[in-house]
Amino acid sequence: MTSAIYPGSFDPVTNGHLDIANRAAALFDELIICVYDVPLKSLMFSTRERVDLMKKSVTHIPNVRVEPYTGLTVTFAQKVNARVLVRGLRMSSDFEREFEMALMNKKLAPDIELVCFMTSLEYQFISSSLLKEACQLGGDISNLVPKHVAVALAEKFGLPQK
Ligand code: ADP
Repeated sequence: MTSAIYPGSFDPVTNGHLDIANRAAALFDELIICVYDVPLKSLMFSTRERVDLMKKSVTHIPNVRVEPYTGLTVTFAQKVNARVLVRGLRMSSDFEREFEMALMNKKLAPDIELVCFMTSLEYQFISSSLLKEACQLGGDISNLVPKHVAVALAEKFGLPQK
């Protein structure tokens, strides 16, 4: 049985993340979506909120579970017996960052393999940060995230529900 982890901050989860999760879940026996508990950047949603929003988004995928984690990603992978680390790539800047992290991770944990999925064309431009910016300024983001995430974003920004 091959287990994979898909780590990220997911602040909040977008349709781009879910596309990668769906595709990875189809390839591996088990996919653990792991949400950084204390990421090194300031976030809008708490860990609890990010985990809950993600859990609600993947109820339709039977071999997926969602967990928060702290510390090194590769250490978490070893703890849950996952041999594969899944990431998504949108553009060349993602590649540079992932490449650097992959080399470090390989040094730290040679037994873990990185598998990168190319974004699907329709999700290429979606990032959590840009999405939040657009939403805050009144943009319609309803077709970029699941419905419950759009509701949570509107609540955070004190916007009327559409
Ligand atoms: P991180 O802070 O670790 O980059 P993110 O939540 O921003 O966490 O992203 C988690 C992973 O999902 C990263 O590998 C990122 O490149 C990937 N990702 C984010 N948005 C998309 C998208 N629209 N298409 C494909 N991959 C994506």
